[in-house]
Amino acid sequence: MKNNIFENDGKQLPVMEHFLSIQGEGYHTGLASYFIRIGGCDVGCHWCDVKESWDPQRHPLTAVDDLLVFIPQHIETVVITGGEPTLYNLDYLTSRLKEMEKIIHLETSGTGTVSGVFDWVCLSPKKNELPLPEYYRKAGELKVIIQNKTDFDFAEKQAKLVKNNTCKLYLQPEWSQRDKMTPLIIDYVLAHPQWKISLQTHKFLKIP
Ligand code: SF4
Repeated sequence: MKNNIFENDGKQLPVMEHFLSIQGEGYHTGLASYFIRIGGCDVGCHWCDVKESWDPQRHPLTAVDDLLVFIPQHIETVVITGGEPTLYNLDYLTSRLKEMEKIIHLETSGTGTVSGVFDWVCLSPKKNELPLPEYYRKAGELKVIIQNKTDFDFAEKQAKLVKNNTCKLYLQPEWSQRDKMTPLIIDYVLAHPQWKISLQTHKFLKIP
């Protein structure tokens, strides 16, 4: 499935939604950003909070050039998210965004083909399909979702694969388990301060 989708020239993408909001998670929390959510993901996390993104057929192809006119001029940062955006060839989208002098962030599980240019990569690895090696080298931040206690061990194993000293490390409670997992993450971060806690602040703020 990945390769068939990727062979598209990227001038049209199955965009699920695009909107102006505030980055709620990770290193750039609080930053006003324009989000482009591309449909399609075959990783299959059982706790995924955007399951409606999984089937790319549900999201009609949108011409990238038509989409870009919606991005406000005064907004510097564009976040490409999903679904899993690396299922697609992102060369055209990111080259057009660079022409517009935007700062481009990618949110990915790192499972699809590498394409496009990014100023920041947030890598969120998933146990059921691990990232390709290139994404560990590109990651500016590693964001591991903590759904149960065994995820701390997974997080440490993943942290060994990213750039030492420069990649920011985050542990984020899976939303439905936040009451149970957040206290454990707090204790873990206090004992292992190379990690920081990331919260889905946009959900607390009730914004998209
Ligand atoms: S990789 Fe992301 S979009 Fe895909 S199933 Fe997992 S959480 Fe959902």
